Formats: sequence, C-alpha cells, structure tokens
Amino acid sequence: MTDTAELIELSERRSAHNYHPLPVVIREAEGAWVTDVEGRRYLDCLSGYSSLNFGHGNAKIIEAAREQLGRLTLTSRAFFHDQFAAFAAGLGDLTGKDMVLPMNTGAEAVETAIKVARKWGYEVKGVARDRANIIVMEDNFHGRTTTIVSFSTDPDAHDGFGPYTPGFKIVKYGSADAVRDAVDADTVAVLVEPIQGEAGVLVPPEGYLRQLREICTENNVLMIADEIQSGLGRTGDTFACDHEGVVPDVYVLGKALGGGVVPVSAIAADRDVLGVIRPGQHGSTFGGNPLACAVACAVIDILNTGEYQARAKRLGAVLHERLGGMVGRGVVAVRGRGLWAGVDIDPSLGTGRQISEALMRRGVLAKDTHGSTIRLAPPIVISEEDLLWAVDQLAGAIDDL
Ligand code: PLP
Repeated sequence: MTDTAELIELSERRSAHNYHPLPVVIREAEGAWVTDVEGRRYLDCLSGYSSLNFGHGNAKIIEAAREQLGRLTLTSRAFFHDQFAAFAAGLGDLTGKDMVLPMNTGAEAVETAIKVARKWGYEVKGVARDRANIIVMEDNFHGRTTTIVSFSTDPDAHDGFGPYTPGFKIVKYGSADAVRDAVDADTVAVLVEPIQGEAGVLVPPEGYLRQLREICTENNVLMIADEIQSGLGRTGDTFACDHEGVVPDVYVLGKALGGGVVPVSAIAADRDVLGVIRPGQHGSTFGGNPLACAVACAVIDILNTGEYQARAKRLGAVLHERLGGMVGRGVVAVRGRGLWAGVDIDPSLGTGRQISEALMRRGVLAKDTHGSTIRLAPPIVISEEDLLWAVDQLAGAIDDL
C-alpha cells in the first residue's frame, strides 16, 4: 500500500487515537531527511522527540545493530551475555557513576529512579516506612505510567486516570526557594528535567540546577535529573546538567541511548544508591538485552568523541541567532539550548498545529507542544545549510498562515 490517504485511514480506524500525527506517512530516512510513501522528502526537525540525535541510519549504530542481530538478540537477565559488561562500564564511565540499571522506555527508567529513591530513603536515610516523598515540578513530563501521571499537572496526561499514586509534592519549576520550602525530613528525592522539553523547551534560570544540587546535598536528598530528552548531546553538552557544572545523584536516560534503533533506557548512580536494589526487587525481560547493549555501546562510543556535543553547540548558536531575529515578526519568544528550541508563535496568527501543517507543506517536519509553541530538534547531523533552510521555512510558514 503506498497511498497516503488509505494508509492514514486504516491506521486511524484500527488503532487508538492517543496521538494526533501530521498527515505524512514516512517510508525511509537518511541523516536528517525522511521520504514519504509517495517519494516526497522532508527535513526532520523532531528527531523522534530527540531519539535520533545521531541521525537516521547512522552508519556506526546500524553496523553495531546488524552485527549483533546476526549473533544474539535476547537472553533475559537470567544469564550474563557478552555485551552487558561493556554497556554497564561504558555508560557508568560516560555518566561518571559506579553503576547502571537498564530498562527499555523512558517512563520505565523514571519509575526505576522513583523506586530506587524510595528504597534508598528507607534503607539509607532512615525514613519511616511508606512516608517517603519526592519533590517534582509543575509542567513536568516524565512519561505515561499511572504513577508518573499521578504527579503530572497537564490535565490531558493526568485527568481520568486515578486513583493516583501518593508520595509526590509538586512545586513551581525554576524556583529553588519553592524546593527549599517543600523539603522535609521524609523527602528522599528531587526529580527535575534540567530543561523541560514537553512543556515547551523551558530553560530554568541560570543557577537553578546548582541551587537544587546544594539543597539536595544539605538535606540528604537525592537529586534525580531526567535527561531523557535533554541528555546525550542535544544541548551541546553530554548532559544538560553539565551547563551548570552540576552532577546529579541519579541520571535518568533514554531516547537517544537507543540510537533511534531500539528502545534503551537506564538510570546511573553510585553504589551507595543503586546498591539498594537486590535480586528480585526490580527488573525487565528486555532491559539490558544484547541488541540494546550493542546499540547503546555504539552510541556511547560516538558520545565519547565529543563531536556531536560540539556540533550541537556550534549549530545551536546559529539556530538561536536566526530564531532570535524572528522575534517580533510573528514570533513572540524563543527558548532553548544547543540544537533544541521552543518557538512561541503569536497565537493570534494560528495554533501550533496549523503552523506544523504549514511547515509540513514546505517540507519540514516539526511538532507543536502546547498552544502555539513549535519545538525544533533536528538530528545533530543536520548541515548548516539545511538548518538555515528550515528556519526560512518557519518564517515562510508563519507568513502562510
Ligand atoms: N522523560 C522525559 C523528559 C521525556 O521527554 C520523555 C518522553 O518524551 C519521557 C520521560 C518518557 O519517555 P518514554 O516515552 O520513552 O516513556
């Protein structure tokens, strides 16, 4: 079947409408470009919500996957396999942490961090049974499980899915004072996105992460950084926390860790934290499988060169300079860091959806987040020429409205 309308009709009729995709059916991709079933080419400015930082069909990642596919794909964690040690040590070294715990999706890794923080709270900090609380931020996005949506402030994500998991305190994002006021003797962790992606690429005030680090250290509370979307090169550093020189107690990683090939997520922490998990207390059949580990090792090798971080920093400066020049010309505000931007379009001109559709007609795929905000996060392999072309198309799409 190659007819766009037919494929969309069948997809919509036979699957739940939990997404509202743009009306394009993609068949293949290379680098920063995708091609639809009718042969039309588009510049990918979403990167699978930042899962394709290293580009579609990255030769090194695909080669690692192919090689592993032909040998061994799954053992379960009932046995060791020959890719696991290199993965654990490699990710531990990349994060500077003693240990890792692999899962598959981002939400599972966040759940893992929550479980580990609670257990650490009871066994190490000495919090009384079932009393632990975790401080989270307004407008957070950490995934879709019942526990995670329990502390979401987005009505679409939250409402109608109760009863909700207790044990979370929600405070204003960007305010260290709000966190300081919320911490009590039973607080085991502060869970934060160093930049809030789904909320519209919200960058907190400079110094915020450093202040959170201090508050956590002073109060014997774990700082958990959800770097699932912000990490692994996107912002011009390996981790968005690096920008403030901050090292959290727990990194939560996903998306690009799987190179856009397989779902791979993990948390990384030191032994005094991750050591609280013992056999039988947590796990996943596919978490840490040989294919996932081989792909993630290729991703880690790529990140160890620093090339992509430097490229995201350089091209990010170009992107933000150009976007900054659009403020006042249909654009109300631009935020972001590195090759990642949230662009607020004047809502009187149209909705985010209308702008993404106009962009699509001009050959650029990007998605709106909330209201009239467009998120731009192209694969870091994008050429400077293509990046500038994408920004020109955004200006054109605004004019088209
Ligand atoms: N955390 C953050 C910061 C995210 O951006 C996302 C996904 O967008 C998640 C967690 C959830 O990841 P997944 O969709 O792989 O469960």
